[in-house]
Amino acid sequence: MPLKPEVYRVFEDIVGEKNITASDVILDSYTFNWLVEFHPGCAPGKYLQNRPSAVILPGSTEEVQAIVKACNRYKAIYKPLSTGYGSHAFSLEEEVVLLDLKRMNNIIEIDEKNRCAVVEPYVTWAQLTAESLKKGLFGTPHQAGSQASALANITSGWGMNIMGNHGGHNCRNALGVEWILPDGELIKLGHTEEWFTGDGPGPSLRGIMRGHVGALGGFGVFTKVGIKLHNWPGPPEVRTVGEGIFSAYKVKEPLKRAKAYMVDLPDYEKLADFMYAIGDAEIGYSVMRCGGPEHAFAIMGGAISNQTFLDLHESGMINAAAEEFNHPCMLFLYGISERDFEFQEKLLYDIVDETGGTIPDVINETPFKEMLADEFPVILIGNDTHLAHHAGGFVINAGYMGTTDPVVRHQGLPAEELKGKYMERGGILKDGLDSTYHNSFDNNSYIYMELEYHYDAADPFSVEESRKCITEERDTRREEKAGFEVQDIALCVGDSRLTIQERFDELGPLYGNYHLWQEKFKRAFDPNDVVDRSTYGVGVAGRNMDV
Ligand SMILES: Cc1cc2nc3c(=O)[nH]c(=O)nc-3n(C[C@H](O)[C@H](O)[C@H](O)COP(=O)(O)OP(=O)(O)OC[C@H]3O[C@@H](n4cnc5c(N)ncnc54)[C@H](O)[C@@H]3O)c2cc1C
Repeated sequence: MPLKPEVYRVFEDIVGEKNITASDVILDSYTFNWLVEFHPGCAPGKYLQNRPSAVILPGSTEEVQAIVKACNRYKAIYKPLSTGYGSHAFSLEEEVVLLDLKRMNNIIEIDEKNRCAVVEPYVTWAQLTAESLKKGLFGTPHQAGSQASALANITSGWGMNIMGNHGGHNCRNALGVEWILPDGELIKLGHTEEWFTGDGPGPSLRGIMRGHVGALGGFGVFTKVGIKLHNWPGPPEVRTVGEGIFSAYKVKEPLKRAKAYMVDLPDYEKLADFMYAIGDAEIGYSVMRCGGPEHAFAIMGGAISNQTFLDLHESGMINAAAEEFNHPCMLFLYGISERDFEFQEKLLYDIVDETGGTIPDVINETPFKEMLADEFPVILIGNDTHLAHHAGGFVINAGYMGTTDPVVRHQGLPAEELKGKYMERGGILKDGLDSTYHNSFDNNSYIYMELEYHYDAADPFSVEESRKCITEERDTRREEKAGFEVQDIALCVGDSRLTIQERFDELGPLYGNYHLWQEKFKRAFDPNDVVDRSTYGVGVAGRNMDV
């Protein structure tokens, strides 16, 4: 339903006529996104059922604030998005005004002394990384890719990332924020003028701003964020050429005092021992897993062309690797000096021996050698999972965060068994049983693990099977998974049995009624109930509910 003309004109006066639209053609492009076909009862096909009523492109904090105040005045529901990489960025509600923040794309500053950057919503991880390297600093880009917004990831989304072993989970890399609260009030968390801390003396709103996961657009608009940066021992610029197989790019000049390794562990128990030992030794500039070779090389890779990729398959290298690897773990060591690097490498080899691992010979052969030497550094900078959609759709069974042993206990063999069953039924791609995407945080103090699988988004059977796989994962050994489940992918999209709304109702009571607490915060901060409810608190049902 279009906005009332007089309300449209109010928004137009704020941003100018070029920066607002209610054109059906453009609005439709805001209904097509990753996983929309997963929303049961909502998406009849690959489009969300509801178009937004308008899309507005504010260019400054002042404009965002004016829009939010107008939304409150005219009771217009709004939702912000940064780059919009995922259907959670759009709305399941009717008549929602989307605030697309792509005009707010400035890096405000990089503070070398305090090791942090201040950015606006549309600054991507790629932009931030390129500028940070020049100052000897590095961020924590996530697997979603260099093209996604750093601010959205840090303030409002999740935060699993490939640099987490030394840089931490992104919920902890959020420093000061500038935030337009749901009713239009502008606040700043942290020091009034600086950005290096998100807290100061006195009460803090940090726990309301985000927990392990953010509010997904359900609690106002963040217009700037201070992001913690970490040490980069490498050159101020990493020059690349576009001709890789794994990442589609290669570094032009090899990095000094740096090397990537691919260690194989025979089973999940040994894998856990290895990860703990690496954590104890405090090495690993990046520690990550992308599953076995069929998945890591054949699926997570994104070659410069489909032909290059086909050539890799037909060369027999993937099969050769699959024979030698059971559960690979990728590490990137970076020394601050030659001596430091040699020490780290020696530690790594000792740990491999002690935990029953091997470094198979196949990785010394082309093209794997090139991938590790020339392409792994690029992955750190520009990992890009949109290259990973070979079947058309990509999803996860669930995402579990915790200490290594319990997470591996659920996402190791049991997840493989589940995936094997769905692979045999033909609904999902056969890309090996171990397709776990696995990040280590804070020297393996805790990890994140999800089992990824690929489906055909255009095939209703394949979509339905993928949704069932999520449901079955959730319902298996459920009582043992308390503490993990809130990371559940079905909280963004529902599953084969339940809509998101039903998932909120079902899950909340199992987790201290967190959804009711969120609802109380929402009512205190959003008295006119104008922020989109699709993915927050008790959900859309909260409009007619006593709490
Ligand atoms: C294939 C794929 C892989 C992914 N892998 C990872 C991963 O490894 N780790 C990880 O952490 N995440 C991952 N994600 C999710 C990802 O975190 C987010 O999509 C991304 O980090 C956020 O950037 P964005 O620009 O896409 O945000 P958007 O999609 O624009 O926004 C993300 C959420 O935040 C809200 N939001 C955006 N901007 C603002 C703002 N300024 N103020 C308030 N709310 C806002 C939106 O409403 C939305 O709900 C993945 C997503 C996809 C599609």
